[in-house]
This record gives sequence, C-alpha cells and structure tokens, in this order.
Amino acid sequence: MSQREFDLIVIGAGSGGVRAARVAANHGARVAIAEEFRVGGTCVIRGCVPKKLYVLASRFRDAFDDAAGFGWSVEAPRFDWPRLVAAKEKEITRLEGIYAQNLERAGVELIRQRAVVEDGETVRFANGEMARTKTILIATGGAPVMAPRIPGIELAISSNEIFDLPTFPKRLLVIGAGYIAVEFAGVFGRLGSETHMAFRPELPLRGFDLDLRKRLAAAMTEDGVTFHAAAPPIALEKTCRGVLARLGNGAELEVDVVLAATGRRPATAGLGLEQAGARLSGDGAVIVDARARSSAPSIYAVGDVTDRINLTPVAIREGQAFADRLFGGRDVEVDYDSVPSAVFSTPEIGTVGLTEEEATRRFAEVAVFETAFRPMLATLSGRGARVYMKLLVDGASDRVVGAHIFGPEAGEMVQLVAIALRMRATKADFDATMALHPTMAEELVTMRAPARIFRG
Ligand code: FAD
Repeated sequence: MSQREFDLIVIGAGSGGVRAARVAANHGARVAIAEEFRVGGTCVIRGCVPKKLYVLASRFRDAFDDAAGFGWSVEAPRFDWPRLVAAKEKEITRLEGIYAQNLERAGVELIRQRAVVEDGETVRFANGEMARTKTILIATGGAPVMAPRIPGIELAISSNEIFDLPTFPKRLLVIGAGYIAVEFAGVFGRLGSETHMAFRPELPLRGFDLDLRKRLAAAMTEDGVTFHAAAPPIALEKTCRGVLARLGNGAELEVDVVLAATGRRPATAGLGLEQAGARLSGDGAVIVDARARSSAPSIYAVGDVTDRINLTPVAIREGQAFADRLFGGRDVEVDYDSVPSAVFSTPEIGTVGLTEEEATRRFAEVAVFETAFRPMLATLSGRGARVYMKLLVDGASDRVVGAHIFGPEAGEMVQLVAIALRMRATKADFDATMALHPTMAEELVTMRAPARIFRG
C-alpha cells in the first residue's frame, strides 16, 4: 500500500463517509476509505440503531400492561439484559457486514486503520504506510465529551460504553439534558433501573418547543425517572457499592453507573488538519462552506465533524452531494430546509420547523393550534398516556411553519408532516386534507380553532 494513488481518500466510514465513498466510486473515481473502529460509524455501531433497538425493548413494558386491558393474560414478564445486548450485537454486526460489502462491491478500498492528514495530498495510516490522493474527505464524526469537569468524572461512562455494560445497572445517574441523555434515562428506567437525571437547566431538551419539554418532563417523572433539575453533579466518588454523586443542590445519591451524556465534540484531534491548511472552529469543527470545502483546496468535510446539524440523514445527504459534485459532474447543494427530528423518549417527540418561541419572534402574527388526547391503545388498560400536537401558522401567509408532536410514533408522523412543510403547505391545505379515521395523525388535519394568536 506504500505511496498508492487515489482520486479520493475518505477518513471515517460512518454515515457520511460511506455514502461519499460509494457514490464517488460509482462515478468512476479510485477511492479508499479508512476506518479506525467499525464500519458503519456512530449511527450503526453505537448511536441511532442500537439506541432505537433498546428503546423498542423498553417499550414492551407498556405493551404488557395494555395487553391485559384487551383481554390477554400475561404472566409476570422478566427482562434479560445479556440477551438484549447479544441480540443487538448480532444485528449491528450484520449491518456492519452489509456496509463493508457495499463498499467492496462499489470498488472502494477499505483500509481498517486510523488515518491522519500528512499534507493536502497525502494520508498516513496507523501502520506507517502512506497514500497519495487528489482529494481528502474528512468524515470522522464526533466523540463524547466527558463533562462537567468535576472531581471523579473519570468514574462516569459515555454513550459509547453504555450499550455493552456487562451487568444491568440497578441504579443509574444520567448527567445531561440533551436528547441522548433523555433517551437513555427513558430506556434504563423502563427496563427496571432506578434512574436519576441531573442537569444544569430547569428542563431537559433545550431548543425544543417548551410545551413538549414540559410534557416530557412530567411523563418521565410519572414513569419513575427522578429529575434533579438545576442541580448538576459537583463531584463523583467511588464507594464499595458503586459511585456516590454529590449534586449542586446538596443532595447525594449512590448509583451503580454514571452516564455522562453531556454533548459531543468533532473528532479532529491529532488529524493534522490545521498543518494542512484546513481551519477549525474553537471546538474543533472543520469549517466548511455550503459545498463542503474547507480552507485547504483539496480537503473537504461532511457530517458531524463540521458540527452543523448532527444527524445521520444530514451526514448522508452531505456525503452524497459532495461525491455527486466532485465526481459526478452534478451541481447540487444540500437543502437544510425543514429538517425533521425526533427524540426517542417514551412517549416520543417528533418536531419539524420552528418552535413556538422562534415563530413568535420571527412572524408578526402566529396562530397556535393544539390538541391533547389519550391514544386508543391506552384506553382499555387505563394507562395515563397522552398525545399532544401543536401546529404553528404564520398569520400573514397561512403557512404552517412548525409542527410538534408528543406521543406514540411521533417520529413517524413528523417525517410525513415534514414533506408538507417543505412544500410550504398552508393551514388551509391541512384543513382540506381528509382525515383518516381512527388514527392519531388525523388530529393534524382536524384542528380548527386556534388555541391562541400572538400579535407582535
Ligand atoms: P460517524 O458516523 O460518527 O462516523 C465517523 C467514523 O470515523 C467513525 O466510525 C470513527 O470510528 C471514524 N474515525 C474517526 N477518526 C478516524 C480516523 N482518524 N481514522 C479513521 N477513522 C476515523 N442521529 C440520527 O439521525 N438519529 C438518531 O436517532 C441518532 N441517535 C444517536 C444516538 C447516539 C447515542 C449518538 C451518539 C448519536 C446519534 N445520532 C443520531 C447522531 C448520528 O449518529 C450522527 O449524526 C452520524 O453518525 C454522523 O455521521 P458521520 O458520518 O458524520 O460520523
């Protein structure tokens, strides 16, 4: 492999890198991709996919309760953590194999090594070998930040480790208030851990619509997760039975495992980017323009390493557009309009467009439509689940500028609402759409009178 030549070397075989490498090779480029861990990247190996599998596992708790309401007799169910971990591992290994196979089929050379940038046209691998290339794509993603920097933080684990804990934690403290913290607290709480969340703000999920944040906090509390809001830990200490966390409000709690879900940082340390002329932001993100170009002419970057919208579908689109532009002769740019997102809490959150707070800042008049009801699945069992939906409508154009759903399958619903928002659908379009009965989603087209109207 010494001094081999390529048109493109991609560093990082995750969502963005794999797509870019495959598409570039299909356009006829000579492509190599370097991966230091496992092919598939964060999403497949220790992100979206295993996380969603664990979320699904945790939701059987409701299913057992609901089943009884529908006439089923269910014996006391028992949960087996090692069996779930093993089943998850089998599935992600299968997916990893498919990713590697697709790269091979496209003619991409997979180099299972850490790679760094030697200069704008040379990449060095961990085994000391080098390769020459016309173009380098940085797709190294991000890595967990272990925060806050308090005494004992080294006793905490990150989301990388939580998937494969050898023993199920009977007591868990999650530090953080972002979506990853919320999702893991929900999963472990429902699987049977005594679960605590400690964080700095008053409510989790900063940046999401306030009504959804409040409802989720209430639902999780009702579900048994203990919130220590405005009380981040100030110290962690090892004890003979686990870890003692001292919280900012003076409380102390002993747990088996502390998960620091306190954000992620672009994985650029030691990559050699700045020496090669590629500028980084203060937190290490590769600074790129709308066409993924860094400040070094031959170096490009896509995905989480650019720290813009850190989601898998975004990284994939960026990788695709990069390869189509450079090797397929297509003049394309990624459209970041109306990117939907979900929080796989239970109940789920699905959201697209502006929050109420953003909409009322941006538009002179905003009509807020909302509805709350009990999902049919919970009616016979009497479970206290609720669904909440909110549409935000610009008074001047009648356009729906935000849709927020809290409830079962909210992510599935919002994926489809996102199409309507991208097409600039008006509230009149929603109203004219026939309802599909009986569904939860029909409520999206049957909200008639606004709950409130803001006039700025
Ligand atoms: P990554 O997928 O992170 O891939 C980067 C790859 O580069 C990694 O495989 C890494 O090992 C490799 N690498 C790094 N440095 C080097 C080097 N020097 N040499 C060789 N290889 C290197 N997104 C969603 O859309 N939906 C979700 O539900 C969701 N859930 C998530 C849950 C968790 C717990 C986490 C952590 C993330 C989640 N995400 C989710 C985010 C999603 O995983 C990322 O947005 C996505 O993986 C970014 O893709 P990427 O290609 O930029 O980087």
